[in-house]
Amino acid sequence: MYRTVHINPALPNQPRSSVLVIYTGGTLGMVYDRHNDQLIPFDFEQILDRVPEIRRLDFELTVITLNHLIDSSDMHPTIWIDLGRIILKNYQDYDSFVILHGTDTMAYTASALSYLLEGLNKPVILTGAQLPIGVARTDARENFITALEIAAAQQDGKPLVPEVCIYFNSLLLRGNRAKKKESVHFNAFQSENYPHLAMAGVRIEYNTPFIAPYHPEATLRLHEKMDTNVVVLPLFPGISESVMDSVLHIPGLRGVVLETFGAGNAPTSPWFLDSLKRALDAGLVLFNVSQCDGGRVTQGRYQTSKLLERIGVVSGADITMEAAITKMMFVLAQESDGQVIRKRLGEPICGEMG
Ligand code: ASP
Repeated sequence: MYRTVHINPALPNQPRSSVLVIYTGGTLGMVYDRHNDQLIPFDFEQILDRVPEIRRLDFELTVITLNHLIDSSDMHPTIWIDLGRIILKNYQDYDSFVILHGTDTMAYTASALSYLLEGLNKPVILTGAQLPIGVARTDARENFITALEIAAAQQDGKPLVPEVCIYFNSLLLRGNRAKKKESVHFNAFQSENYPHLAMAGVRIEYNTPFIAPYHPEATLRLHEKMDTNVVVLPLFPGISESVMDSVLHIPGLRGVVLETFGAGNAPTSPWFLDSLKRALDAGLVLFNVSQCDGGRVTQGRYQTSKLLERIGVVSGADITMEAAITKMMFVLAQESDGQVIRKRLGEPICGEMG
């Protein structure tokens, strides 16, 4: 059982919409504990004292606090599945969902949920903050309130943003296109390869052509498995044969996100390609993702990437590393046939690559 708080600021009027907030931990929910001189998670029972602006909203909120609040560095695929189960269980009872999450791994969680929640037709908005809610200059209040507004936004009874997104510092981004790029300033997230879905200024301007369309007939289906027998292997000049071989021989390993240079390029030394070939022959799946945040992998543009294409490495096109590693966990958990896995990795599942 989770601790739950219900708030209906719309009373005595009928609420315009209902939002389920799931609090997982992270900086946003921290307050200063004077007695012990440390930051501790705050109790959502006091949300109206901390964020009095909530009293002015015209929709109702329910806040679920997870039993173990975590710094998102402790995030794990089992928690993604728990989040999916909470959403599935409450799907008919709420119009939308807001997940309060630490910024460090928010892009991984958003990507994973985008794959796990097949047929999603309601907003799932992740947000967090760079400064705790208990600090005077916190960005938590604006991020939280606007994420709620976006989650509740509807037109003709339909949600404006029926997909998994990250809202942060005035920008709404597609969750599986976002990346944490900043640990000090408030603009923590970027989406280099996909336009923002909304920008919050005096008004919230929606970038409708880029938002996933609403499908009235879609039914939510939760996938409850992720395969963690995967690794990210970033290349660097000087990478040695023994490093390559050690990584590619990890017992039980099924998939590798190969972080390559530029447009998907890698060394051309015979030992390097032989090492990859041996891995492919042993049944591993290799997914080529660029170390650059912007642009795309174009296998075959340079000789260095043509060789990767020839031996059977799958191009990640313009996917982020966060979306790629979670996609690999997802696809490997669904499929066992190598050809099917490679095909599914190379095609978009829910707008994570183009
Ligand atoms: N380390 C924190 C976390 O990701 C940072 C944050 O919340 O922004 O949980």
